[in-house]
Amino acid sequence: MKLIVANPTGLCFGVRRAIEQLETTLQDNREVFALGSPIHNPQEVERLEKKGLHVVETPEEVPEGAVAFIRAHGVCPETHRRLEARCRVVVDGTCPFVRNAQARARSLAEEGYPVLILGDRNHPEVQGILGYVNGTALVVSETEEPEGILQSLPKERIGVLSQTTQKVAALSDLVGRLVSWIPEVRVYNTICRATLARQESVCRLAATVDGILIIGGRNSANTRKLAEIARDAGAPTLWIEHAGELDRSWLEQMGSVGVAAGGSTPDWLIRELIETLEKL
Ligand code: SF4
Repeated sequence: MKLIVANPTGLCFGVRRAIEQLETTLQDNREVFALGSPIHNPQEVERLEKKGLHVVETPEEVPEGAVAFIRAHGVCPETHRRLEARCRVVVDGTCPFVRNAQARARSLAEEGYPVLILGDRNHPEVQGILGYVNGTALVVSETEEPEGILQSLPKERIGVLSQTTQKVAALSDLVGRLVSWIPEVRVYNTICRATLARQESVCRLAATVDGILIIGGRNSANTRKLAEIARDAGAPTLWIEHAGELDRSWLEQMGSVGVAAGGSTPDWLIRELIETLEKL
């Protein structure tokens, strides 16, 4: 069986940067409290927990005077303030691409645009971005009709941006629909370059192999998008979290297999998968 690994693939710049910040903080402090899982990968979280990481869901769960960590998804300004108020140190691992989306949302609202965010309204990154909008903000997913969501708003103008991990095709489609019935549509493409590059590489790979193996956490939005893209490109696709989930009967049908990893899949899990595949 021929094996081809997508390029680029795996840990994106933002998550790699955040994990490095977290590791350094864990070296200097016995315990660090991350607000939300710092990486959407259960195996990597387990590794970090052994070094003193605690994952909490609200600022109030962080003990007074402790060290807190903000993950790459970022948080809204109010949550940031609550952390600063009770913690000795707050290490901010917000990805610069997410910061850009937050700043764009804020500036669109300041200029009087209702803000429409393409994304998953329950995703922490989107929740954080919404906190930067002092005005009207709405979220539309790629499967929803924007016409229904925007029904109650005046149809004069709108500002649009995207969760960083959305598909470019979905943003283009949304904007295409909006321009047909709203005269002024101001768009910021806030899909990050790392996401774009990984989506393009999996799309290219899907056209050249018999099947695609996607490795990444089931709670990882960007991994899910990669699996969708591979399927949409017509490649039989198997999504696993780690090498232990490999389905041998699926592999037996393949003459060539492509491997792609989500932006939150650590290097060691990819290495483990490739080593396992090479031994088959
Ligand atoms: S996917 Fe993009 S925006 Fe999200 S953490 Fe990675 S580099 Fe940053």
